[in-house]
Amino acid sequence: MNIKSILFLLLLIGYQQLYSQENYKTVSTVDSTKVYTGGSAYKVKTFAQKFKSEKPKNVIMMIGDGMGVAQVYAGLTANHGHLFLDNFKCIGFSKTQSSDNYITDSAAGGTALSAGQKTYNGAIAVNTDTVPIKTILEMAEEKGLATGLVATSSITHATPAAYIAHQGGRESYENIAADFLKSDIDVFIGGGYKHFTERADKRDLTKDLQAKGYQVLRNMDDIYKVKSGRLAGLTALEHNEPVPKRKMSLPRSTETALNILGQNKKGFFIMIEGSQIDWGGHQNNTGYIVREMLDFDQAIGEALQFAAKDGETLIIVTADHETGGLALTGGDMKTGMVKGAFSTNDHTGVMVPVFSYGPGAENFTGIMENTDIAKRIIDLLGL
Ligand code: MG
Ligand code: ZN
Repeated sequence: MNIKSILFLLLLIGYQQLYSQENYKTVSTVDSTKVYTGGSAYKVKTFAQKFKSEKPKNVIMMIGDGMGVAQVYAGLTANHGHLFLDNFKCIGFSKTQSSDNYITDSAAGGTALSAGQKTYNGAIAVNTDTVPIKTILEMAEEKGLATGLVATSSITHATPAAYIAHQGGRESYENIAADFLKSDIDVFIGGGYKHFTERADKRDLTKDLQAKGYQVLRNMDDIYKVKSGRLAGLTALEHNEPVPKRKMSLPRSTETALNILGQNKKGFFIMIEGSQIDWGGHQNNTGYIVREMLDFDQAIGEALQFAAKDGETLIIVTADHETGGLALTGGDMKTGMVKGAFSTNDHTGVMVPVFSYGPGAENFTGIMENTDIAKRIIDLLGL
């Protein structure tokens, strides 16, 4: 290795450190296979379709980042023909375009879903003039509903951030972390510990969270034990690892959060994100997409378990956009093998599916704008 290549490597390492929060956009050299070879399947339960009320008291919003129809079908094939999503009888499509681009990013896509307004790529719950716009989570808080956010990325990343923070640019992670303290969110679980503790302003926001009554926990076993009160679960320094290395469990986090929030008599709103389906798409890695899709679907199973028992809970499952332009060029329902082909390592402009279950689900069928999803939830919850 000559001096030039050593210098280049050092530069590359420095660059990666600097942009490590965006590392998922670099193509993985460890596992870049386009074929998921298959594996065992989990059992999918069938849930009742009878509900107690006309309108929901609780809303569980679930976002599969980068989850187009092909991603769903890759997961369905890998799980030998069935997903918990089979329980959703009301299905529609969402148009994902942002205010300034045919191809949205997760910040504008998140803002459309959180606040019901189209904005520019990179915007975190601000409008096209960078003026903050109120989100469903904030409206729910004002009405006395309990609120929550769960993500497998950093909790400061674009999708969860769009529900709780107001920033002109999605990369302002430390400001986004500080915005959590301006809210009265009851439960949040995700990565991003670093943005609360290793800050340019030298503040340790976990101290401020504790002063506000939060149990600040970093370990999944401790988080899982929490039955009530305010919870800040910061499960990784930055993003959580991909499945199967991930210690943070999305299904268990979902169950924990729902049990806490479900105690509020006025109801609750929560957004739960399968963040890394998108990253498998960016890396053109079918196995990564499948594993994250199945993890997300099992979290949907936990949501269904809660909603079917409760009878007044609406679940919406959708995506902010599709990633990778994934096509399925082969598969086997018996073995779970899926062969993927990709047309880009970025997002695409196609419609994404909207699945809904529970009271009010019939409002989310047909072709709709992504902003309509937020507007209809606001309407149904009377916010
Ligand atoms: Mg996301
Ligand atoms: Zn993406």
